[in-house]
Amino acid sequence: DAVFHAVSDVPRDKYLAGLLSADFDEDTCQSRYQSTIYRKPSPHKPSAYLIQTLRKYEDRHRRCAPHTAPYNKTLPFLNPGPAPEKETECKYVLWTPAYGLGNRILSLTSAFLYALLTDRVVLINRGSDMTSLFCEPFPDTTWLLPPDFPISDFAPYRRPHPLRYGNLLRNKNISTESDDGRPPPSFVYFHLDHDYDTEDMHFFCEPDQAILRKVPWLFLRSNMYIVPSFFLNQEFEPKLGRMFPEKEAVFHHLSRYLFHPTNEVWGMVTRYYKSYMAMARERLGIQIRVFNSKDAPFDVVSKQVINCTLQEGLLPKLDANARAGDTATDPTKTKSVLLTSLYSGYFDKIKDMYWEHPAVGGVVLSMHQPTHEERQQTDKESHDLKAWAEINLLSLADVLVTSAWSTFGYTGQGLGGITPWILLLPKKGEMPEPTCVRDISMEPCFLTPPSYVCREKRNGDNGKVVPFVTHCTDAGRGLKLV
Ligand code: GDP
Repeated sequence: DAVFHAVSDVPRDKYLAGLLSADFDEDTCQSRYQSTIYRKPSPHKPSAYLIQTLRKYEDRHRRCAPHTAPYNKTLPFLNPGPAPEKETECKYVLWTPAYGLGNRILSLTSAFLYALLTDRVVLINRGSDMTSLFCEPFPDTTWLLPPDFPISDFAPYRRPHPLRYGNLLRNKNISTESDDGRPPPSFVYFHLDHDYDTEDMHFFCEPDQAILRKVPWLFLRSNMYIVPSFFLNQEFEPKLGRMFPEKEAVFHHLSRYLFHPTNEVWGMVTRYYKSYMAMARERLGIQIRVFNSKDAPFDVVSKQVINCTLQEGLLPKLDANARAGDTATDPTKTKSVLLTSLYSGYFDKIKDMYWEHPAVGGVVLSMHQPTHEERQQTDKESHDLKAWAEINLLSLADVLVTSAWSTFGYTGQGLGGITPWILLLPKKGEMPEPTCVRDISMEPCFLTPPSYVCREKRNGDNGKVVPFVTHCTDAGRGLKLV
């Protein structure tokens, strides 16, 4: 047992303090009940109200799932027309994958929380490989849109679409005035990508949500973690406060509830973990994401990573007093560093540093990088499987360093329950100063939040409305729960 330090064969608390339903067959999705073999126990416990809300959701999902009677009764409302006067028994949020894996996980989490808040059911377009990456999250039912669903192509729902909420408002085809009397359409498309506009942003406001209550079909397209804005909605906030007394654990709980790697991905995760991470006393994860190599050239980023990790004591300093040939190491001080990046250069640089020079205190350091794919290839299955495995491996670290603005890093830190050091974004090839800072919470950042402030009915600063929604460390305009 001295070798496999953290891995025990028996999962502790396999239902995550009641977050997970016990009603699944374990073999079809081993990660669901095995994650606690590898992950440290979370200090964040789900509230009784969250657990109760999830169990109620699971019942609703089963009742409203594809091809049930209430679903069949609601299908005709997909055709353009007015919403029914009386709310349908089942109401839906449709979701489709867009952008990279981290973006997808954050937007789907947001869509799910919206469904919890509005008594809806989430159904997802499986895209090219959602089923190869994720297990079904709800027992005895499916969240996948069936092959016979009337909409097979979601691509035409773009900014110009007439049923886009922003356009409906602009063209006065929907109204939030109570004396208007006209029913809203029975299908509304929400364009909540980073390029949305002020009218689209009204989605988050109370009068708009009131009118949307009657709409049986909502289609939500987003690449962001829009959850912080739900907390600014005064109708949603009381329920959210009961569900999440600890505001920084919203994504932590919901991601652990929703996103279980398939057996194929889990095999990759556990084999890698046992081979390269389990035996070390300490595990450090470093995620390096470069969005623009002009702003963030290789030399600047590698210096930044080394400066940050040495300064914060995450990597051992090099021993300047050691003589050549000094071979003293301390076998109790083993450290495994997991590095994830699309590129291989950073890895070589750090590894060589500790090969060529001894570390202070005789720390024995090993470096590992599972892949270097060189470029993003979202929707290619073999690429996405590895990306998802790497996000999970990051979440198994003890300490994390993640990159500013990266939803890939946000997902790893949230699943792991780890507040990371965040590498600030280099601009114009300049080294940021400081190179990294400890983040204020493990929550993801809502990177392009609405400029429209519902309570003030005008554009303003949504980071100044309530104390628990504030600006992000890594993205000054972004919003984050703390
Ligand atoms: P973001 O762009 O950093 O916010 O994260 P996303 O996950 O949304 O998109 C980036 C995509 O690029 C990932 O989903 C992967 O396909 C790929 N990618 C980026 N960084 C890495 C990495 O460190 N490892 C692997 N395997 N893929 C990566």
